Amino acid sequence: MPRQFFVGGNFKMNPASREAKRTLIKTLNDAALDPSVGAQITFRFLTVYLTYVPAVWGMKDVKVAAQNCYVKLSGAFTGEISPSQLADAGIPYVVLGHSERRTLFHESSELVAQKTRVALDNGLSVILCVGETLSEREAEKTKEVVEKQLEPVTQQLKEADWQKIVIAYEPVWAIGTGKVASSAQAQQAHADIRAFLVKAVSPAVAESTRIIYGGSVTASNCKELATQKDLDGFLVGGASLKPEFVDIINATK
Ligand code: PEP
Repeated sequence: MPRQFFVGGNFKMNPASREAKRTLIKTLNDAALDPSVGAQITFRFLTVYLTYVPAVWGMKDVKVAAQNCYVKLSGAFTGEISPSQLADAGIPYVVLGHSERRTLFHESSELVAQKTRVALDNGLSVILCVGETLSEREAEKTKEVVEKQLEPVTQQLKEADWQKIVIAYEPVWAIGTGKVASSAQAQQAHADIRAFLVKAVSPAVAESTRIIYGGSVTASNCKELATQKDLDGFLVGGASLKPEFVDIINATK
């Protein structure tokens, strides 16, 4: 079965006003979105907006995702949110391992893998981010770094769990910098991840798992990236706040 194109928008903790967000949701609701992308579009809101936006503004064809969750289900963890609370609130997806979490909040690959396990056990689907820094790329360590990030996850997951995982390959040097990976660089990294999944999990999981690209995707570079055979969609930060996000969703049209 062909892998269905998957597009996510990551609003982060950006200062876009309530009105700007509402306008953007209206643009998406009014736009002719590629029906083959269909329900594969997710928006990452801050926790405070997760239920408010869909309930109050209405969102057509778009699901919401939390930007993070904790590894425990309950307890004295002030400021954290548990996967079961997200699931209770009807949130279907959570993003784990974003480079900003790994770098600024020192989340290890082991913690990300544990969170992935707990999120799946509580009914969430996971968008799992991996990617190398500029110095790691320059030292030709991209493949090694990404495999090390994925390894603990492969140890935590059973084969059937992979149906609920989307891997986002996001080179850290491309996130928010305007320096997008070339389509050859992206294709190589995605093909390496797929080859790793063949070895570490199974050929069937490697074939069916969506691997999406993130890092300075815009309306002007998305079409070429989307032609790459192992690239199954996008995770978009800055451009997801603009009307051009519609063009990115429609990149394969
Ligand atoms: C991101 O934050 O995941 C991201 C890809 O950001 P940007 O598109 O702005 O590079």
